[in-house]
Amino acid sequence: MTSDCSSLPTLGHRDVRELAGISSFGFVVQNLRINYLVPPDAFATMGVRLTYGEDWSQRLCRSRKLIESLLKAVPSASALGLLWNVEQWQAFGNAHIHWRTTLTACPECLQTGYHSLLFQMPWVNRCPWHDVRLISRCLTCAAPLWKSIRPDASPLVCTCGMDFVDDRQLLQEPARLINARTRHVGRYLKWARESRSQRDVFGLEQDVPLWEDAAMELFKIKLPWRHPSATATEILTRRSTVQHQAKRTEKAEQANLLRIASDTGRAKDLFLELPLSFELPMKRVSRCVASKFPASSFSERERICLGIDGTSEYEDWQPRPSVVLLRAYSVRDKLYFDGRILSRPVQAILQQVCLTMAHADTERLDDYIRAYGRVLFRGYATAAYHALAKIESPHTPPRAVGWKPVVFIRRRGQRSRLDFLWFGDQPAG
Ligand SMILES: [Zn+2]
Ligand SMILES: [Zn+2]
Repeated sequence: MTSDCSSLPTLGHRDVRELAGISSFGFVVQNLRINYLVPPDAFATMGVRLTYGEDWSQRLCRSRKLIESLLKAVPSASALGLLWNVEQWQAFGNAHIHWRTTLTACPECLQTGYHSLLFQMPWVNRCPWHDVRLISRCLTCAAPLWKSIRPDASPLVCTCGMDFVDDRQLLQEPARLINARTRHVGRYLKWARESRSQRDVFGLEQDVPLWEDAAMELFKIKLPWRHPSATATEILTRRSTVQHQAKRTEKAEQANLLRIASDTGRAKDLFLELPLSFELPMKRVSRCVASKFPASSFSERERICLGIDGTSEYEDWQPRPSVVLLRAYSVRDKLYFDGRILSRPVQAILQQVCLTMAHADTERLDDYIRAYGRVLFRGYATAAYHALAKIESPHTPPRAVGWKPVVFIRRRGQRSRLDFLWFGDQPAG
């Protein structure tokens, strides 16, 4: 145990060399516990001022200002501060930051007040050195863990009275455990760094149950920070895989794709411009969906659009929503599509892919454009099918809806492998 005499003579803390991978939150909590302080003392002793309606672990990670203030008050923590940056814990290369939005921790590590950003990563669900499942709620009363920071009690004491910290363990951690932790943190960070250069994932966001299922599909290899868990039975999964050799895209086409991606990524109304190469596939999707319905389902105009033969029994005076199966249409060399028909998860993933594409290395463009196309075509087919089915028989309950797409991209040298997973709710009955 050392104390930082220069700034705060009263604050004692553990030797930072023993705390590999600890988060700013873990560091603050440990110091409060070691010095028998309560959370309001964090400001006077460590320069950290927070309120109690918020999750401290989140704010202490997101706010650079808080971290700077903490490092200023406790300069000896600067060696730990190098890992208080969430980017270093990410395992995927696309710009979107993935993490759990509530305090998640290992119950064994909590006994020493230890918390790491490792535990906030959604693909991590067990503590690699204790080999136990992570928790985000009190094991006794199920209250959220983050609520155990209150102004009138030691940090990490739940409202039910359960104290997650064992003061004796906090001060006497066995060397064996400290060494194992240092080793595992190093191994994880190396894995994450390599993974970031080879992998992208789109579509999972903060959906923790979905991460559990997707991670089963994504990480076939055994990793010490993941417990394999059985896929939830009420979830339907459809999967397809594409492998391809990176294709060289012409300069002019590249610029065009980047422009479209940047517009789409920022679009509010999902009225989209598509790459011209999407025209044929979109036409094919429209025809394929249309073929599942009798020709009489379509108005004259729709049949011309879709190229369907046969006369319509459909009468124009009948109330009928505007054309739903309008394929992408071109206006002066540009292709447009009304993306509002797409489900929300599909819209969200398309924007994610586009935002990443707009900032990507050009050699990755081909991967992203393929991912974008696949999700769009399938999302469009599903949405169009449902819209038509509803018009045909408005009283039949819809079949599985709300498919959530997840795209996983892996690169090895010049080759890429794209996995498309679609998670849907099992229809009732
Ligand atoms: Zn642990
Ligand atoms: Zn409790």
